[in-house]
Amino acid sequence: MMISSFFVNISIMISFTFLWHQLFKKNQLTLKSGYKLKMIDGIIAGIFGILLMHYSLTINTITILDLRHIAIAMVAFYGGIIPAVIASVIIIMGRYVIDINFSSHVALVMILLIGTGTGLISQYLRLSTWKKWTVLLLYSQVIFTSAFVFVSPDKSEIVIPAILHAFSSIAGGYLVIYFALYIRNSTEAFYQLQQTSYKDHLTGLYNVRAYDHFFNEFSENNKQLRQHFSLLIIDVDFFKKINDAYGHQAGDEILIKLAQLINKEAGQRGKVFRKGGEEFTVLLNQCSYSESVEIAHRLQKTISKHKFYINNAEKISITISIGISSTEREKTEHLFESADHALYIAKKSGRNQVCEYDTLTDKHY
Ligand code: GH3
Ligand code: MG
Ligand code: MG
Repeated sequence: MMISSFFVNISIMISFTFLWHQLFKKNQLTLKSGYKLKMIDGIIAGIFGILLMHYSLTINTITILDLRHIAIAMVAFYGGIIPAVIASVIIIMGRYVIDINFSSHVALVMILLIGTGTGLISQYLRLSTWKKWTVLLLYSQVIFTSAFVFVSPDKSEIVIPAILHAFSSIAGGYLVIYFALYIRNSTEAFYQLQQTSYKDHLTGLYNVRAYDHFFNEFSENNKQLRQHFSLLIIDVDFFKKINDAYGHQAGDEILIKLAQLINKEAGQRGKVFRKGGEEFTVLLNQCSYSESVEIAHRLQKTISKHKFYINNAEKISITISIGISSTEREKTEHLFESADHALYIAKKSGRNQVCEYDTLTDKHY
């Protein structure tokens, strides 16, 4: 009897924790969260506590104990005093719905002590994760067991149930926090990886993988909106010479600054990518052919005028060549090839210039 209700409670705790996490995985409760989130999580923990109160641990035919304090300890663990107290108030109200008697008054005091105590411990004691959980769990267990002993008329009969209850809470409590920490950590790692897998680590710009993603997104969106998007491919002129003259490190510094300048000129509609080495691409969303030509010319001028500081001393100038293509003039699937071809012509015609694929006589490649 005892074993099976223990497993039922564990399953409820695990599935509730999972749903809770799924709903709030982008907005996780921490001690630093805002009041609104703390209140919402407090309410959810209160509902969780009421649920646990209804699926009580059947110790024997007359004794019914439950794990509602774990819900409070958990929300205190993550969110501190505010959600812990809110959860307590909700659980107390839920307890009074069941019945109003001496036992429910004792439960009121017990839950308030657990809520404020766990909240304060979590908020103000600087403890490592597992130490903190142990302290919260033991504290709430001591209060719960004391209340249980206090309301029981025959103290000798409750020794075994009290021990079984303590054992279940502590074992269940560790299991559920292990689960919560595990899913939180893996979700966090997932989001972090997702972020970094789209970024170039030298310049902080998007990388080639992100390019494919946004290219597909732009091509679908613009098709639906009957709008056009454009592509610029940018390559630094004679960058090898800069590396040879000032060193690879200085070359990197220039690339970082250059990335910032391109990003600024690309504006809100533009997504900027480092294609590799000293080559960049810009996807311009909802951008006509003539607008993209304007943007490219402005960018080329800005770069040629800019003085790049290297090794914190010398100022040098660089130039870039740009190839343009737009879905207004080209099929989407030919966009890259045509911009690349335009860039090639820009290089061949002397560099430091913008070449529009449209102006080329040779449309075959
Ligand atoms: P151009 O494009 O005008 O034809 O001449 P280029 O000298 O720039 O020639 P190319 O584009 O073929 O060569 C790119 C050079 O950029 C090769 C390499 O020395 C340098 N480079 C590539 N990646 C990096 C990088 O991450 N950091 C630095 N510092 N240099 C790089
Ligand atoms: Mg180059
Ligand atoms: Mg190159």
